[in-house]
Amino acid sequence: MILKATDKQIIRTIGDLLTGVKKQITIIPHENPDGDAIGSAIGLAEILAQSGHHIAVISPTEYPDFLKWLHSQVEVIIYGNAKSQASEYIRNSDILICVDFNDSARAGKIEKYIKQFSKTKILIDHHPYPTNFCDYVISETHYSSTAELIYDLAHETGLIKYMNKVAAEALYTGILTDTGSFNHNTSDPNTFKVASELIAFGVDTNKIQSEVYHNFSADRMRLLGYCLNNKMQVFAEYRAAIITITKKELDDFNFKTGDTEGFVNYPLSIKNIVFSALFIEKEGWVKASFRSKGNFPVNHFSKNHFGGGGHINAAGGETELNLVETIELFTSLLPQYEKQLLETII
Ligand code: 5GP
Ligand code: MN
Repeated sequence: MILKATDKQIIRTIGDLLTGVKKQITIIPHENPDGDAIGSAIGLAEILAQSGHHIAVISPTEYPDFLKWLHSQVEVIIYGNAKSQASEYIRNSDILICVDFNDSARAGKIEKYIKQFSKTKILIDHHPYPTNFCDYVISETHYSSTAELIYDLAHETGLIKYMNKVAAEALYTGILTDTGSFNHNTSDPNTFKVASELIAFGVDTNKIQSEVYHNFSADRMRLLGYCLNNKMQVFAEYRAAIITITKKELDDFNFKTGDTEGFVNYPLSIKNIVFSALFIEKEGWVKASFRSKGNFPVNHFSKNHFGGGGHINAAGGETELNLVETIELFTSLLPQYEKQLLETII
């Protein structure tokens, strides 16, 4: 167990809250949840349900089809599809557990319920700079994923005895997706130790690899090919590259939630590129994703220019500029980061 940043007393208190009298608990991932947010939520939910609590996962928005195979005895309620059911469940809960986000705003439409909730609120997360919106905070930024952290927390609190194959599959999926298939953020031996211990619960790693990474529509593959061929701009002199996608292009390729997941990583496969951005045109705004190598901090870049945040090597944000203006802004910013980009060690 390597929960270094969290006070032992907080871990004990959370342990007492989650292992004591049976309670009603809501687990909330961030909006547009990724594999770690949903995997962490379902994994923790399954463990807590096994231990006898009443649990629901309430997601602010829909999650991608490639995670739909994750199933547990716990219901995943999509807020937008069942607002009154979701708000009533939260109202009747004794505890809210927020997973994989560091600011209540990341809960989107559920933020107001988190703010109003006057009983116990717990945060379990690995993003830097958590804001003060929960009573008990486990924020461990050296973890690859919230899922890896939840596994260690389960050990620490004794909840590990309720771990089963369903929970292990969900947590393994969180680690797999947040490390890009064990591609980045994997220098800590603990990540492989936890993955290996999860596999021992019967996780079928080949099945999960297929479900998550070999489950695309032909349209999605064609959209990727089109983006790499026609929509990627390389700024070699700044060691940066971007991909931009218009709404019309998404429509042309029958876009479905999750289809552009991972696109932002591709430019980093180009030799010497250390900074990659993906800009996707939405209704009146543009969604931005940033990835980097080495110590170039895309979370700071995103916070400073796109109202967002995230990790040092993976961040997101948004802007109300249109897509053309967004590209202009991005390219106009590159000169001021030239020194930092050229000095980035990979
Ligand atoms: P993605 O590019 O996959 O949407 O996000 C990459 C990382 O940045 C994830 O860890 C995600 O939680 C975080 N992130 C994405 N969008 C935002 C945002 O708008 N604000 C903040 N604070 N973090 C974000
Ligand atoms: Mn995560």
